[in-house]
Amino acid sequence: MDYNAFFADAIARLKAEGRYRVFADLERRAGAFPSARHHNGGAKGDVVVWCSNDYLGMGQHPAVLDAMVEAVRGCGAGAGGTRNISGTNHYHVLLERELADLHGKESALIFTSGYVSNEATLSTLARLLPGCIVFSDALNHASIIQGIRHSGAEKQIFRHNDVAHLEQLLRASDPKAPKLIAFESVYSMDGDIAPIAAICDVADKYGAMTYIDEVHAVGMYGPRGGGICDRDGLSHRLTVIEGTLAKAIGAHGGYIAASSALIDVVRSFAPGFIFTSSMPPAVAAGALASIRHLKASDAERQRQQERAARLKRLLADAGLPVMPSESHIVPVLVGDARLCKLACDELLERHNIYIQPINYPTVPRGAERLRITPTPQHSDEMMDRLVDALAEVWARLEIRRAA
Ligand SMILES: *Cc1c(COP(=O)(O)O)cnc(C)c1O
Repeated sequence: MDYNAFFADAIARLKAEGRYRVFADLERRAGAFPSARHHNGGAKGDVVVWCSNDYLGMGQHPAVLDAMVEAVRGCGAGAGGTRNISGTNHYHVLLERELADLHGKESALIFTSGYVSNEATLSTLARLLPGCIVFSDALNHASIIQGIRHSGAEKQIFRHNDVAHLEQLLRASDPKAPKLIAFESVYSMDGDIAPIAAICDVADKYGAMTYIDEVHAVGMYGPRGGGICDRDGLSHRLTVIEGTLAKAIGAHGGYIAASSALIDVVRSFAPGFIFTSSMPPAVAAGALASIRHLKASDAERQRQQERAARLKRLLADAGLPVMPSESHIVPVLVGDARLCKLACDELLERHNIYIQPINYPTVPRGAERLRITPTPQHSDEMMDRLVDALAEVWARLEIRRAA
């Protein structure tokens, strides 16, 4: 077999569909966020980034940078091992304590990424519980889907955020089987929010555990930044709260918070936790400083919410198809993969605005969009320039305006 011809063919098909991924080569500059230097072949120029998941700009916060530099100087670069074999640094221990406290849980456990935390935890829990049935929201993230798949457990998919459908599936299943409901709080492509209390109610009624991915909400919602569960006073009702340290927290890594017994089981049985070197101490130190800051400070969250509301208003006033979103995420519908990519190319090349096109399979075909994430650091002027540029590109490419 001509292996390379096979690979080239797979890529050619992606390109024909207009969903071949091109990475923007960016040089983030601490202190200048959301501006970044864009390396484009030999050329380079400044762009304004409008699609970063560093939602609060904590990736450049002085308290975070100082903590990381101090930890690098103090502890060196890498962790030096897996958690079990010399790789547990004191910063890891402090970070896990901080996270347990943030979510009002007995314990927490950190992983090398949010993806790994979902994959490792779900695959381990659903594999260990004999005959476990996992109920999964139809729009769950790829890492949740992979975790459930790797567990080998039976999976039932309920319609997105549809509690009546979830209950129907629970009612029809073996009352004696262990059950786990996996869902997210903020869904990051539409910006909608799960009916968490109602899901917990049916979980209680049918004796199911609940697993919530708060990746897009941690740091962003609640009086201390513990997420939507924190905001709504629901943390105690969830069996497992999962989050990332790489988005609003601005560093890197993922985690779960839960009862000590559950954490001990994942710590002891999950290959994705056991057989990999732990995160560098400086990364843990940076995440720790960021979480501590966001526990005490609401200013970033308030400013971010104000920025998102303003941008939504400006886009609607300009007649651009901003999609309804209950959260900090601002999706703008294009509805065509090729046009979506073209619009982003135009924004980058002619307006120095960087927004990555969101195409299938991240969203369904026909729902291709720009996913805009305003941060506290985006100024009024940047926002006005963005709206003008979008209006110009929409007119030039004749993209439809009604959402
Ligand atoms: C980004 C994301 C993850 C993965 O988190 P990382 O720390 O980036 O690996 C998990 N769940 C959801 C919903 C995400 O969007």
